[in-house]
Amino acid sequence: MTHSTPAIVILGQGALATARRLQQVYPAAKIHGLNGRVEGADLTYSDFGATVRELYQQDTPIIALCAAGIVIRTLAPLLLEKGVEPPVLAVAEDGSAVVPLLGGLGGVNVMAREIAAALEVAAAITTSGELRFGTCLLNPPGGYALGDLEQGKRFVSDLLAGHSVRIDGAAPWLEQAQLPEDSQAQRSIHVGSDARAASASELLIYPRSVAVAVGADVADLPGAIRDALQQAGVAIQSLACLVAADVQMASPALREAALELAVPLRFVAPANDIGELARDAVSGTRIITTSRDIAIAVAEQPLDILQIGRPRGRLAVIGLGPGAAELMVPAVKAELARATDVLGYETYVRMAGPFRDDQVQHCTDNREEMQRARHAFRLAAQGRSVIVVSSGDPGVFAMAAAVLEALHESVDPAWHSVDLEILPGVSASLATAAQAGAPLGHDFCVMSLSDNLKPWSIIEKRLDLAAEADLVLAFYNPISRARPWQLGRALEIVAQHRTSQTPVVLGRDIGRPGQTLRVTTLGELTPDQVDMRTMVLIGSSTTCAFPRAEGGEWVYTPRWYGEKPNG
Ligand code: SAH
Repeated sequence: MTHSTPAIVILGQGALATARRLQQVYPAAKIHGLNGRVEGADLTYSDFGATVRELYQQDTPIIALCAAGIVIRTLAPLLLEKGVEPPVLAVAEDGSAVVPLLGGLGGVNVMAREIAAALEVAAAITTSGELRFGTCLLNPPGGYALGDLEQGKRFVSDLLAGHSVRIDGAAPWLEQAQLPEDSQAQRSIHVGSDARAASASELLIYPRSVAVAVGADVADLPGAIRDALQQAGVAIQSLACLVAADVQMASPALREAALELAVPLRFVAPANDIGELARDAVSGTRIITTSRDIAIAVAEQPLDILQIGRPRGRLAVIGLGPGAAELMVPAVKAELARATDVLGYETYVRMAGPFRDDQVQHCTDNREEMQRARHAFRLAAQGRSVIVVSSGDPGVFAMAAAVLEALHESVDPAWHSVDLEILPGVSASLATAAQAGAPLGHDFCVMSLSDNLKPWSIIEKRLDLAAEADLVLAFYNPISRARPWQLGRALEIVAQHRTSQTPVVLGRDIGRPGQTLRVTTLGELTPDQVDMRTMVLIGSSTTCAFPRAEGGEWVYTPRWYGEKPNG
């Protein structure tokens, strides 16, 4: 099994240098530093226990640069639960010791050796099978899958107890291992893609050497693929990928089948028949055509998926939230990790980082929205995994609408085949409101005061009607150097419908370093208190404010309107 990107967790400044060395081994890994103790980490946390437990439960490999005991105590409550067990390692702050703690089947010893090699020390390997044989038999390398774990554990115990073994099939990674080999042995490690009944004397390891070419119109596609493999005597564990014609790229049935079978989906140009499609995808292999719509390509060696056709491109328009990492939704974090290309206004791309060396950053000026959207589609249509970054929510005065407009205007089927997804974020109005209390607790209206893309007259009209309708108002883009007078005019219009006592919330750089929150009133508010990094919330007739114990004020708009209900 190959492990995913680890998290490097450090408690003190003294560990940062070692952490950076580990990043050379795992370039995508982020360094999580304790807030207030570590300067210059990629991410900060404030609660070590909660952070490490969360990473563990998300199945993220953990490299903790601290005492092994701290890690053990922290994770102990989770160990009795059955569930994920990612690799967990303790590494001495100064890099002098590497101790694999958990995740033997997740490849912790492989990681321990990789780290130890980089730090030029010996890994503290304690797993008996691994020590004796020099490899973990139950953790074959990428491109191979273990048949059955429980059976495998018994098999390794048998070998440790003195049984000899023969290798049946090609297992190049075992050539270096010190196995008790004997060509006459009763027990065997069988490596092959043929379907076989499990037997106690065999450890089955499947090379991922099979591609299945499919049409999208087959009913119950996963079931049909399983049946076809069974009929052909090929083990489903050897399935490496599904292949289909690129004209069917957007088919939900194909996507779901690949998801259910947990294999990647690759696309090639259409062919005359399914057998030819399979041959085009994986040349030089044995092709078994089991029906008009399914053909199986069986190779001798594990397949290199990246050499087979191309994937469906992806375009995700993401919202970072106001800025703070805690306010970014997990789906966005996952998307940032898988992206090959990142597009956006430079400030936001920087906020979304750090990125790996293999992730291409395309920074552009804020005004070139449509050009950026088309650029994103051109990249995604080549099969890349592209992210367009916005702050807050991408659908609120940001890139999502521009991306959809670019797609709407395009007749290119490759653009329409892109896997397009919009991932939401916490918008500035919501982040500001939450800090102030609940000013948006009743009906409200969101407006951009920028007249760059709409006439000022329509802004005035909407302001007038929204204020008259007694909606709470949230102003985005309230003012800028190029638009100096508009906010003052907007406030005049609002003042015609509201008292000067109406609560106003000003949130500046909310969720970012140096954030400020100010509660004032409409009568006190002047445009010079506001800049383009400020969110302006103006209350309705029912919005009220009261002092909070720690200083400042709570602001809220009650749920009711008109007469206060009983109770
Ligand atoms: N898509 C963004 C809004 C982009 S418009 C979102 O959903 O939040 C840009 C305007 O949003 C700014 O002029 C400012 O009014 C507001 N804004 C964005 N981030 C902010 C923050 N962190 N604090 C306060 N206001 C912010």
